[in-house]
Amino acid sequence: MSDRRILIKNGLVITLDSELGDLPRGDVLIQGGRIERVGSGIEDAEAEVFDAGGMIVMPGLIDTHLHMWQQPMRGLGADLWGMNDYISRVFPLRERFRAQDMFTSTYTCAIEALGNGTTTALDFNHNVLTEDHAEESLRAHRLTGQRVVFGYGMVGYADKIERERADRLKQVARMHAELGSDPTSLVRMGLAPGTLTFSTVKGMRVEVEYGRGLGLPMTIHQNDAGEIYKIHEAGLLASDIIPAHSNNASDYELGLLAQCGCSIAFTTEGEFSGGRCMSVVGRADRAGVLPTLGVDGPSFVAVDMLSQLRFTFRIMHAMEAQHERQEGRWPLAHSPGVPFVTPRRVLEYATVNAAKALGMQDHIGSLTPGKQADLLVLRVDPYGVAAGDPANHVVLHSGVGDIDSVMVGGVFRKRHGAMPDIDVERLSAMSGEVRARLVD
Ligand SMILES: [Zn+2]
Repeated sequence: MSDRRILIKNGLVITLDSELGDLPRGDVLIQGGRIERVGSGIEDAEAEVFDAGGMIVMPGLIDTHLHMWQQPMRGLGADLWGMNDYISRVFPLRERFRAQDMFTSTYTCAIEALGNGTTTALDFNHNVLTEDHAEESLRAHRLTGQRVVFGYGMVGYADKIERERADRLKQVARMHAELGSDPTSLVRMGLAPGTLTFSTVKGMRVEVEYGRGLGLPMTIHQNDAGEIYKIHEAGLLASDIIPAHSNNASDYELGLLAQCGCSIAFTTEGEFSGGRCMSVVGRADRAGVLPTLGVDGPSFVAVDMLSQLRFTFRIMHAMEAQHERQEGRWPLAHSPGVPFVTPRRVLEYATVNAAKALGMQDHIGSLTPGKQADLLVLRVDPYGVAAGDPANHVVLHSGVGDIDSVMVGGVFRKRHGAMPDIDVERLSAMSGEVRARLVD
């Protein structure tokens, strides 16, 4: 949080606030880390002016499924052929991570994500080999300047968790007490309970009820057919749990998720990399479940949410067209509700939807007065903004190289392409040292 008064002027402002809409030439006034005003022609003699002329100003991206500890494993999952490859070849390398490696990997991944426009992430840490591993990951989060929910993983080592569950949950409670429950704090505690694939209803119940008692946002890996139904039957399904993937969810199960006000974390590129089917995001959106997006594992996907936006739009669009063809409606024609997905809708997945999924909709997700000043400034030069909805430009014509500036809680973490507080060469050496131990 910053006490500075900053006026971002003359940008093409995409607020994603349903009342404010887009401002072709707009200003955002920031005070004490919060957005104070959004409008046109704002003047403020006290404020430092940031000229966003010729650029897009938009809410920061929110990643709801990222395994940050895998940052030094980049490339090791490049040629995965199904999830078995991942489980047999890539995931076991986790055993080589020492506690201090968790600091390095978490820190470098958070900085990479932040520089690429992810102002908030749900870090699903499924490599808590020891309590020190969790401490080191959390220590990294406290230093990055990124907004994060630290998803303490109760997964990845099933036998061990049976023995250590009670102690681990006590550590979660201690960490939560240290971090506090101020919803605007940069680092907040979360929990990633074990799912039925690797755990039992009894084990999952203990973890979910513990996390729920502390008021923590939670997330689970959800890949098995019928699992959502079983979790619901056990009385555990509620909007504080974000299932990731869920491609095997039946329409009935999507109805259960919608009834409970649930979201899903869909990891578009990761679904393909894991050889999963990829049916859920459109079905979920139509069923009233809140879709959100994530990168998933840096061992097989780049830490780049802008790419996920583009993939998601294109794939959803293509799948919808394929469905129309299969139904005999060819050549394609517009009809009410068809086509369903738009670039703006996908942009909302990674902003307003994700904020709601994390229970942070009053604080982040849109450029609304009173919310935290978490935003991106995107360059559109040299060819200018594409025609039509400016969300089209963001989703289809922008890459991470276009990210001029990134602000979290009123602090520029990236400004005009540079990250002022980060020693990038040192980061590279730190990450390389961990990687060397993984590939020897
Ligand atoms: Zn995952």
